[in-house]
Amino acid sequence: MQTPWGFPDFDAHEALHFITDRAIGLRAIIAVHSTHLGPAAGGTRFWHYADDAEALTDALRLSRGMSYKNAMAGLPLGGGKAVILANEEHSKTPEQLAAFGKAIDHLGGQYVTAEDVGMSVTDMIEIARQTRFVAGLPVAGGAVGGDPGPHTSFGVFLGIKAAVKRALGKDSVEGLHIALQGAGSVASGVALHAAAEGAKLTIADIDSARAQALATQVNGETADPVEILGLEADIVSPCALGAILTDESIAALKAPIVAGGANNQLATPEDGGRIHARGILYAPDYVINAGGIINVSTEYVRDGDAALVRQRIEAIPQRLEQIWAESANGGRNPAAVADAMAQQLIGRGPEGTPPTV
Ligand code: NAD
Repeated sequence: MQTPWGFPDFDAHEALHFITDRAIGLRAIIAVHSTHLGPAAGGTRFWHYADDAEALTDALRLSRGMSYKNAMAGLPLGGGKAVILANEEHSKTPEQLAAFGKAIDHLGGQYVTAEDVGMSVTDMIEIARQTRFVAGLPVAGGAVGGDPGPHTSFGVFLGIKAAVKRALGKDSVEGLHIALQGAGSVASGVALHAAAEGAKLTIADIDSARAQALATQVNGETADPVEILGLEADIVSPCALGAILTDESIAALKAPIVAGGANNQLATPEDGGRIHARGILYAPDYVINAGGIINVSTEYVRDGDAALVRQRIEAIPQRLEQIWAESANGGRNPAAVADAMAQQLIGRGPEGTPPTV
């Protein structure tokens, strides 16, 4: 479909900001998808992209995903996302983070950042020297804040359990086999929760040492990253990067459940239909992985404590069940049901109609 500006993933984004500082080697994009429900919130991804178009696509898709995620989690936030274009070595400097923080500050609160792939709590501290529009900062004494990863993992684990209940009729993952894609922040937390409940784990990461270390920790096994999605397993849990559910990988799936924390798992909207047509239960990514942004939101908005964060994360399974129930009744696939719900919440039609004020 032809879209304004010619970007296939442009979805009436409210603003796109390109940040360039040649002297210090900083190139970044801040994509503001929607501020209908509040400031556009979403993490910063630090990644080496093949080209600029890939980075822009990522920013456009991830920021729309954040609008949907924040709306579906009931948060007073819109959706945005930033990507910093890393060099091949993935090295970053305090000067780059400072310049990036200043750029966020210039937006005056239109965009609020936090951690995403390749960004740490330490990086957020650097950014926070330049702007107050940042969360995911360390806090003392049990206050809400810090790395969103463990909260995302907890929500994903609860979502996996909900999927297991619905598809397999079981109350626990004990004895079930989970094929985990990724061994990073989110994947590790999922693995630890699942192993503690007696699940068997097979883990794949393009960083094989990372996969091995996590497998050792949870008494699991490792697999080739190319094969992980097609393993004989009860649950496939994509917890690495996006666009991994394609025509081809969906055809190769053998597990009855796909439930994981990675953003933008579906390569195209049609892939939601393809999974559904194969009778596989899919947990829409931005619903199951909202735990981290729930923590970030509670930190930033200051509207609750750690107990409330937990309570909000524990509501993720309910939302998934609502989506699956509507899908079962209406015949539409869960991803399409979730998209329709989210679009309604942010005041947009299916074609990305800008909000009517
Ligand atoms: P991370 O950087 O800690 O881990 C990502 C891991 O994926 C790395 O170990 C990397 O080597 C691995 N990887 C990359 N490509 C791979 C491939 N093709 N096959 C196997 N492994 C591969 O990042 P994270 O914070 O754990 O995030 C993982 C996913 O979850 C991302 O899609 C992120 O957007 C999403 N997510 C993260 C959070 C959060 O709170 N951190 C919240 C919501 C969603």
